[in-house]
Amino acid sequence: MNVLALNSGSSSIKFQLFDMGGGERLLVKGIADKIGLEDSFLRSEGLDGRQDLRPMALADHRAALKAIIDMLHSRDRAGEAAGRIGGVGHRVVHGGERFGESVLIDNGVMDALRQLVELAPLHNPPSILGIEICREMLPGVPNVAVFDTAIHQTMPPKAYLYGLPLYLYRKHGIRKYGFHGTSHAYVAKEAARHLGRPLEELKMITCHLGNGCSITAFERGRSIDTSMGFTPLEGLVMGTRSGDVDPAVPLYLTKDLAMSPDEVDDLLNQESGLKGLCGERDMRDIEAQARQGRAAAQTAIDVFVYRIQKYIGAYTAVLGGVDVIVFTAGIGENSPYIRREVLRPFGYLGLRIDERRNQEGQTVFSCADSAVFAMRVPTNEELVIARDTCNLIPCKEDPTAGRRAGRGK
Ligand code: ADP
Repeated sequence: MNVLALNSGSSSIKFQLFDMGGGERLLVKGIADKIGLEDSFLRSEGLDGRQDLRPMALADHRAALKAIIDMLHSRDRAGEAAGRIGGVGHRVVHGGERFGESVLIDNGVMDALRQLVELAPLHNPPSILGIEICREMLPGVPNVAVFDTAIHQTMPPKAYLYGLPLYLYRKHGIRKYGFHGTSHAYVAKEAARHLGRPLEELKMITCHLGNGCSITAFERGRSIDTSMGFTPLEGLVMGTRSGDVDPAVPLYLTKDLAMSPDEVDDLLNQESGLKGLCGERDMRDIEAQARQGRAAAQTAIDVFVYRIQKYIGAYTAVLGGVDVIVFTAGIGENSPYIRREVLRPFGYLGLRIDERRNQEGQTVFSCADSAVFAMRVPTNEELVIARDTCNLIPCKEDPTAGRRAGRGK
């Protein structure tokens, strides 16, 4: 059965179509981008690796999804078996406390998702729109929601509560939720599988370092703490997000520097992080500038790395030690320099890096006698979405294989 994994953002829809019968084969992937802008386009890539880039008017998400589905049907007619969609999995950023796992979508779930918009006003609406359009355009095809927050619902209150008046949590849901959950869960499982050990037996720290960055501590196979919080702004220094700052800073900006709440929001989310520190948000450019001796670029790297080190240290403390540290996403997968710099202080844990393996991007890049495994595991959030979708829908090929769930928390 073919499953379409969708990641709907405010101005783009990323998609991957998998054949989930047997080998989990990726059939087509691509993006409908710059939705609503003049230079919108649809880019897709099939099994042969050939890219098809078509500039086309994509006035809104409906037009973009129609273009994606039409393209899949035309590839199907061309013999690529890409049109028969048996289920659609949607990435939904915020599942609140209601959803501790992926869920088959029905009207009740849609109502719950709409209620959650309050908690994620920027991130959830495009996903909800994507689901509504799929239900309309692909009648009879089941839809599944896969949440970025879900795996972090296992955090204990001592990790997810802030030191704020308790009514703010009880009445307004203000607490740490955590994000990037599908990525952390996927790489944690992959790392354990690679080591041939049950995840439940490993104390593991996973570092997702992309444009957005977050870090998670796993104990007995469950997320017990993570760096992103009520929103994806908390924690590590990111491409354009500040991560942790003294909560008095935004107050100072509004009261003393007369910035409006929207300006502060924009500053913390779009103008801070690596970009704020050195003017660049792309780690490749920053590393190149640092090599050329530009001090601001080196300072940005130092701040970025130091924050990750502090979180690894904190999570090692609460886990009572660490067996595995995993790096993933754009920076984590592709920068041996950042991996090495981040791990530099952890010799005291008995961690020893094999620099040749690190440079080669090997999965395990610690030395054979290291007390802690250092690992590089590419993430694959779309595959997790497709797997969860396949697990939750009644499977056409084998009617006994689909597990109907709809289990909210
Ligand atoms: P997103 O969070 O948007 O999915 P990615 O996971 O693709 O982002 O990560 C993007 C980041 O990865 C960018 O900062 C980019 O510079 C960085 N990156 C990609 N390749 C490399 C590389 N070879 N060296 C250093 N950084 C890299």
